[in-house]
Amino acid sequence: MEVNLKLADELKEKIENCRKCSLWRFRKKVIVGEGPIPSDFFFLGQNPGKMENELGRPFVGRAGKYLDKLLSLAGLSREEIYLTGAVRCPTPRNRRPTTKEIKACSEFLKLQLKAVNPKLIVAMGGVALEALQIKNKVTKIHGKILEFRGIKVFVTFHPSAAMRFPKIRKHSFEDFKKLRDFQNR
Ligand code: SF4
Repeated sequence: MEVNLKLADELKEKIENCRKCSLWRFRKKVIVGEGPIPSDFFFLGQNPGKMENELGRPFVGRAGKYLDKLLSLAGLSREEIYLTGAVRCPTPRNRRPTTKEIKACSEFLKLQLKAVNPKLIVAMGGVALEALQIKNKVTKIHGKILEFRGIKVFVTFHPSAAMRFPKIRKHSFEDFKKLRDFQNR
């Protein structure tokens, strides 16, 4: 437990000082992640939006509220999960992070997985998949379980996509219900 917390502190310091890609210029408050350490569930999103950047917390805007709703379908709450994004700094006009930016930030993801030591990573959206080196589309593999460095990965859509598109919403609801089943295994 102590080792995990030490790793988490190291990670915070590293992210605060990181200039590995040009996105550092847009960073206001550092987002490391939120949730218990260690934790069985590691939820991985994209990158901070405007509100997240102001407050230094992941998923605090509308997508965050939507995530809470999805979590309740899985029988989970924020207090039980670890939550973070694949890219730690915001992008201009909230564009999708580039492959180069995702790669530059991946060192933090690996360190964080070591600290949190989850049983399951929930990859939400294409950027999360790319960060986990899974070369496939969410539309093709959502609801399935894959693997990253020996850890199981459950694939689903990003909550923002589920919030905006009714067709995706339906699949997203089904995925999160499956996640409930996963806990009961
Ligand atoms: S996005 Fe990641 S790699 Fe780029 S500056 Fe921020 S912390 Fe560093």
